[in-house]
Amino acid sequence: LTEKLQNVFKKLRSKGRLTEEDVKIALKEVKMALLEADVNFKVVKQFTKSVQERAVGQDVMNGLNPGQMVIKIVNDELVSLMGSETTELPLKQGNEITVLMMAGLQGAGKTTTVAKLAGKLKSKGKRPLLVACDVYRPAAITQLQVNGEKQGVEVFSMGDKQNPVDIAKAAIEHAKANQQNVVLLDTAGRLHVDENMMQELADIKANIQVDATLLIVDAMTGQDAVNVAKTFVDKVGIDGVILTKMDGDTRGGAALSIKAVTGKPILYVGMGEKLSDLEQFYPERMASRILGMGDVMSLIEKAEAALDQDQAAEMQKKLKKMDFDFNDYLTSMEQMNKMGGIGSILNMLPGIGNKAKDLEDMIDEKALDRTKAIILSMTPAERTNPGILNVSRKNRIARGAGVDIAEVNRLVKQFEQSKKLMKQMPGMMGGKMGKRGGF
Ligand code: GDP
Ligand code: MG
Repeated sequence: LTEKLQNVFKKLRSKGRLTEEDVKIALKEVKMALLEADVNFKVVKQFTKSVQERAVGQDVMNGLNPGQMVIKIVNDELVSLMGSETTELPLKQGNEITVLMMAGLQGAGKTTTVAKLAGKLKSKGKRPLLVACDVYRPAAITQLQVNGEKQGVEVFSMGDKQNPVDIAKAAIEHAKANQQNVVLLDTAGRLHVDENMMQELADIKANIQVDATLLIVDAMTGQDAVNVAKTFVDKVGIDGVILTKMDGDTRGGAALSIKAVTGKPILYVGMGEKLSDLEQFYPERMASRILGMGDVMSLIEKAEAALDQDQAAEMQKKLKKMDFDFNDYLTSMEQMNKMGGIGSILNMLPGIGNKAKDLEDMIDEKALDRTKAIILSMTPAERTNPGILNVSRKNRIARGAGVDIAEVNRLVKQFEQSKKLMKQMPGMMGGKMGKRGGF
């Protein structure tokens, strides 16, 4: 999509308000992207209509071009369609038992996901009990036992001769006796939606107090996942959805359609076969994934908000002339702060994702503060003309900043390197951020 949008951006150069034409052109591409991401056709139609209505006549935000403005509106609407916020499991306090029931078709990922959830709950200090209610396939019970063992969570099973309601009742008694406070029911699925399966789930709900029924759906099945979800909502009643296999090459359009069609929130997404591969669902991230462009849009937004255009132009001019100095260095540090610091910037870069936290930990924020102190201890002449920094000046600066002279030396060296680096890619600062001419 990004590439297509670039072309759209090129076409959209009018300023001021978004015209009907601007919006139409951009939305045509967005529509295609959504369909490609396997968003339900009806949802796409309704969605683009509401964006169209919202967008036409709207002022183009300062610093954005009309194409970006449309994408911003699209992005905002996608996020709000998916629920805007994260949804948590309805866990009870203390020793009171919460019962969570999994539902879904065979192969959707119930047995895997229930074990992933148990692990998450355990790490939150809960005491979960896994319950084998799939009595049709002995292999399913074994699979749950293997998973439970990996997670260090007890698995309650009564073999395959009892009915699921009795098993669930006995499991709750077992949990009471053993101070377990979350009971997770793994149930049987069928290859297709069928009455027996629905009835079995309804029976469990009628006979024991289920606090939340979680529908497990395979994101790879795209639109089918949406139809399945709709049926479960109508026939069994569900409280939330977990989308599995989001590590596959699906764009995740199912996420959008499910919320729009069923009105039920997505709580988690399965990101792999390993039992640790379960992540909280973030509407923002999913919107970017559906549009296919990392969180680049929000990165641009933040940059736009923080970076004064004239300053950027000035900086680029300086870079060209190669008189980038410590004042500029200070300015860029401040801009970075305005954008929410290193961590939030890393978070938004596509492809970094959950590695951002590690990277952030590696970057010493205190070191950044010391850098600032060093620059502030320089005289204006030293800042604009780092070449004059001799040993005695460096000593004075080190004392002023309360650091070792080695640290001043390091900064000067680092500064020279950055300068060299920036010279190699002037397009980076001046082009992408400064000119705002698209991606
Ligand atoms: P169930 O029939 O609903 O209990 O489904 P299972 O839990 O047995 O899962 C079916 C298959 O999907 C298994 O091979 C799982 O390893 C796999 N699976 C489940 N969740 C995920 C996921 O998030 N990502 C990937 N790649 N595979 C998954
Ligand atoms: Mg299973």
